[in-house]
Amino acid sequence: MTKPFWESTSLENMTDEQWESICDGCGKCCLHKFIDDEEASEDMAPTDHIQKGESIHFTNIVCGLLNTKTCSCSQYHKRTQLVPDCVKLTKDNLDSIFYMPNSCSYRRLYEGRGLPSWHPLLNRGKKTAMHKAGMSIRGKTVFDHDVDLDDFENYIVTWPLMDKD
Ligand code: SF4
Ligand code: SF4
Repeated sequence: MTKPFWESTSLENMTDEQWESICDGCGKCCLHKFIDDEEASEDMAPTDHIQKGESIHFTNIVCGLLNTKTCSCSQYHKRTQLVPDCVKLTKDNLDSIFYMPNSCSYRRLYEGRGLPSWHPLLNRGKKTAMHKAGMSIRGKTVFDHDVDLDDFENYIVTWPLMDKD
């Protein structure tokens, strides 16, 4: 039997369409997070990069442009104009993948862990299994325009770090 493309093709060699389909649409990369390097805590925009070795803490504060029901960006094509810090993961910045949550499907493939059973590609393109498995941000977040970001330490959560096969 022929292997599915995500098992036979490296991330670097995927077509644009294949690459896009790897995104599970969980929305976790749209959460604000911060770095703890023992000397200082620094608030990060949803997709800022970190250096390897630094601790990353996720909050349940999400970018105001995320549709928190579908877990999709409401302004996908204009996102980098509207949110200058929104940096998309691409084949060219794969070495920064460690700022993504463990369950991020790109990170899973990059680390040789394969796609999880709840991934839309294994569920007729639907996100239902992902939501049921609790692997998306649905129902768990507050918008960044509704909170004082200076208080971000009050919003630290561990659920974005969890993964499930
Ligand atoms: S964390 Fe990864 S898989 Fe989930 S939405 Fe972001 S880029 Fe896609
Ligand atoms: S602009 Fe869109 S893709 Fe970027 S962090 Fe906000 S919701 Fe996510």
